[in-house]
Amino acid sequence: MSRSDIRERLQLRPVINVAGTMTYLGSSIVVPEAIEAMNQILPEFVEMADLQRHASKVISRLTGSEAGFITTSCASGISMAVAGCMTGDDLLAIEKLPHYRGGKNEVIVQAGHMVNFGAPVEQAIRLTGAEVVSIGQATSCAPYQFEGAITERTAAAVYVISHHVVHYGQLPLPLFCEIAHRHGVPVIVDAASEYDLRRFLDEGADIVLYSGHKFLGGPTSGIVAGHKDQVRHAWLQNRGLARGMKVGKENIIGALAALEAWEKRDHQGIRLREKQILQLWEKGLAGRVGVSVSLEPDPTDNPLDRCKIALNPKLARITAWDFAAELAAGSLPIIVRDHLVEHGYLYLDPCNLHPEEEHIVLKRIIEVLDQAANAPTARVTSWQERVASKQKALLQWPD
Ligand SMILES: *Cc1c(COP(=O)(O)O)cnc(C)c1O
Repeated sequence: MSRSDIRERLQLRPVINVAGTMTYLGSSIVVPEAIEAMNQILPEFVEMADLQRHASKVISRLTGSEAGFITTSCASGISMAVAGCMTGDDLLAIEKLPHYRGGKNEVIVQAGHMVNFGAPVEQAIRLTGAEVVSIGQATSCAPYQFEGAITERTAAAVYVISHHVVHYGQLPLPLFCEIAHRHGVPVIVDAASEYDLRRFLDEGADIVLYSGHKFLGGPTSGIVAGHKDQVRHAWLQNRGLARGMKVGKENIIGALAALEAWEKRDHQGIRLREKQILQLWEKGLAGRVGVSVSLEPDPTDNPLDRCKIALNPKLARITAWDFAAELAAGSLPIIVRDHLVEHGYLYLDPCNLHPEEEHIVLKRIIEVLDQAANAPTARVTSWQERVASKQKALLQWPD
């Protein structure tokens, strides 16, 4: 396998990713169109403002927005969009952030949307100097709570689309936008991981942010799309706090190539291939003692399903988290989707596999389940200890 050569050379484990598009695993398989475009631009000079003008046209075509640009990440897009709502095109104010006195510096977010995507959403807002005004409670938010929080200092309202947010009791986006707009408040939507490039602007968002390195298969990048003035105000932050979030020519070109490849991608064909992989796993694991397998649709309506594996530790003789840890161990690590593993289940995501890897995954899963079933003692470690040791391991880097 030539594509894994570089990992071997660096003595890095060749990961098989059934977790999803995860920053900690290198996000996604970059599409060949993006790799080719990045190769072409790397040795050349280009006027970056013109390159971003070109980006604006491509982004507008795909999202239906008035304008757009590429930044480093969705997270930087959140900070830039918020900063733009605070400063407008006041170049001096842009240089002064995060110190900003006297203007609009409050940003409203539903409590159920204050999630962590690797870092807190809320911190991407606070980086600008804005204060986050949380509305509602984790599990509910009503229109009166939103309206009551809007003041003359409100700069923007941020809405998060994610499997991590609380999935009930939140304000639906169209209603959220209606309330915000009635009070002249712009709405910024974090849609980092969403396949639908038009829906959130159609539902009333003023600015929407996507990751370029997730489903799109671009290099590390973020896409900012929306109304022209607000997009311009966000872009101007490159002269201020976004300088440390500088995006290079290669990532702009790569993200655009990925966007254009997305337009032409055989979505039906990919979904069919993913279905076949899911059925292979479902069939291959059916009927095993203490193991329930089912297919589950994506919680934010992306057109994809995942394979859910629930373990009964008494019968399977291994907990879901010990099972995930065993798959991740060794010289051919398989990393599963484990954000709900404390409930006794995990998911296999079919979106980031190279051809034939689905068979390696199935074989290894069966191996681990068989080992557990035949081991002299059941493998049941404490979840509590797992949580503590994970934090401990984090703090030991680089050792
Ligand atoms: C992944 C993710 C982000 C961060 O995206 P980056 O482009 O990696 O910065 C932000 N919000 C949500 C909901 C995400 O899923």
